[in-house]
Amino acid sequence: MMGTQAGAARFFYDFCLDDHVPKDHELRGIDRHLDLDGIRAALKPFYSNTGRPSVDPELMIRMLLVGYCLGIRSERRLCEEVHLNLAYRWFCRLGLDGKVPDHSTFSKNRHGRFRESDIFRRLFENIVERCMAAGLVSAEGFAVDASLIAADANKQRSVPSKDWEPARIKDGACRAAREYLATLDDAAFGAASPVTPKFIARSDPAAQWTGAHKGHAFFAYATNYLIDTDHGVIVDVEATRAIRQAEVGAARTMLERTEGRFGLKPDYRVADAAYGSADNLAWLVKQKQITPHIPVLDKSARADGTFSRSDFTFDPEANRYICPAGEELVQFRRAYSVPRTGITADGTRRFRASKQDCDICELKAKCCPNAVARTILRDLEEDSRDVARALAGTPEFEAACRRRKKVEMLFAHLKRILRLGRLRLRGPCGAKDEFLLAATAQNLRRLARLRPAGFAMAA
Ligand code: SF4
Repeated sequence: MMGTQAGAARFFYDFCLDDHVPKDHELRGIDRHLDLDGIRAALKPFYSNTGRPSVDPELMIRMLLVGYCLGIRSERRLCEEVHLNLAYRWFCRLGLDGKVPDHSTFSKNRHGRFRESDIFRRLFENIVERCMAAGLVSAEGFAVDASLIAADANKQRSVPSKDWEPARIKDGACRAAREYLATLDDAAFGAASPVTPKFIARSDPAAQWTGAHKGHAFFAYATNYLIDTDHGVIVDVEATRAIRQAEVGAARTMLERTEGRFGLKPDYRVADAAYGSADNLAWLVKQKQITPHIPVLDKSARADGTFSRSDFTFDPEANRYICPAGEELVQFRRAYSVPRTGITADGTRRFRASKQDCDICELKAKCCPNAVARTILRDLEEDSRDVARALAGTPEFEAACRRRKKVEMLFAHLKRILRLGRLRLRGPCGAKDEFLLAATAQNLRRLARLRPAGFAMAA
């Protein structure tokens, strides 16, 4: 028999929101690890003591976390979803009849007190501390990498960089343009490279025009992650221009900030060859005493069939190279009355073979067919590169490289599951806010999965 809904609507309902949220709902796991008391205290100085009560900042942060954890990218849609979804209402402590704030409240607070108080970084660090307390961060090894995220800027609205005049940006210019001016001396943005990109987006001048994906070029920012390779927890995140110099600089900034903020210093750091410059390796090996599991960035290999630098053996005791014919290449062949450093303007040392040796050498055609004698340039930090070269191929290096994949998986998750393939906010501050919130969401999801209800947490 076909049933029908019967009975008049009731005046009173006995309804408990908590009973209607599944016990294994993802937001329950996240809620268990979320403590926003410190966030509320940090925001207090940015609110007036008089006037109408504002929208609760904890409500806004909880709503933003719902959006970033569940891939709801639009704030308008987020407000609709929180209004309609019982689990979202439960997570935001709204009850059944709680009023959902207007979407414009988010942008007002973001550009005002949220940025002034740096609240998103506090929130991110709060969750990292929670991960540490849960035993998810061992600090045995860190991995670093960067990924390009498309900016909210179009080629059609851009100008060739030769037509771009930053001096003409006035106070009335868009917020992203003013932020661009404010970051011109910032090593992560304007000061990262003197090279001007081919095009500049008027709506977001700090976004980098890049063809790094080998396909169509586009405007982008880079999100940089420093992760603990044990459980893939993101211990720091940084927004930069999408160029290698800025990304390598960010890797240093993040390592030092993590050490200063949490006292975490890894035994090794693993990264791809983009981080394998001599400077960077020397900083890791000599200044930080961190093992570099990083392929060396070396452009000395020759493609014309002649001997490369790696065919010559360096003898550190005698400060010379030995060539394949067994002859020596040295810096100085006579004693100077005023001793010379032998360091070139590029920060290298030049080792030369003797003309007499090369003239009679049977290997000359394979060594220096177009020169009277062979010359080898040695970087001042070549010894640090040698440390990294010696590590390459060892079982420890292979294991570290396998663990590095976790950072790439996090970027894939960021783009596919959290849908952060394109930024919604403009300017360096917008990119920073989005990357911090997304990294916080990824850490919270990991905490909820690896430390479910009933798991004994450290005090
Ligand atoms: S050409 Fe000169 S440097 Fe090259 S292998 Fe012969 S002796 Fe050595």
